[in-house]
Amino acid sequence: MLIADLHVHSDHSNDGLDSIKALIAAALEKGLNCISITDHNTVNGSLEAIEYVEEEGLPILIIPGVEISTSDGHLLAYGITEDVDPGMSMKETAIAVKKLGGVTAMAHPFQFYRHGIVRFWKAIDVVDAVEIFNAKFYIGLCNVMSGIIAEKYHKPGIAGSDAHSRSAVGYGITVIDAFDVSSALHSIKKGKTCVKGRRIPISLQIRTTLEKLKRG
Ligand SMILES: [Zn+2]
Ligand SMILES: [Zn+2]
Repeated sequence: MLIADLHVHSDHSNDGLDSIKALIAAALEKGLNCISITDHNTVNGSLEAIEYVEEEGLPILIIPGVEISTSDGHLLAYGITEDVDPGMSMKETAIAVKKLGGVTAMAHPFQFYRHGIVRFWKAIDVVDAVEIFNAKFYIGLCNVMSGIIAEKYHKPGIAGSDAHSRSAVGYGITVIDAFDVSSALHSIKKGKTCVKGRRIPISLQIRTTLEKLKRG
């Protein structure tokens, strides 16, 4: 059984504060045995994590991942080790990821307040899963709405911390009935997942934002 945080940003993202090494140490400390580094529009963080864990022989599975900026919002992609261009529609992006053998999940669908619902309908038929718990959310209602819609469209749910610093790792957990990357991808698609988490404390979110501002 994998205890995974499927949404983590490293310093390969322009807004991520911590190194791969620090994030993996945090994940292990928090009892996770699986993590996906999902930097904005680059798989480089994931590739570094895979290499690092292999070199050090650490007891944690890395699912390669990336969070792609589409014209309809953010799309999480798992199981791909090459970049997909940002800026396409979510539908086009999801198709491109699938061609590479990856699995997709719509990230925090209702964060795009005004256009959220419209965007959601445009791609719900092509994505494999929906992020129904995002620990960064200030408004729990967005997660509730994502959960309701995922259920209505029979889409499996996943959770992620959307951590941009090591202290936020592990706030969103997906328990996956799997033991390696390919069985994890299969289980995400089949909904053999269980989602749990708690929201990142507001004090920690503020600290992270201040730190980001300080670093420019
Ligand atoms: Zn996002
Ligand atoms: Zn994110």
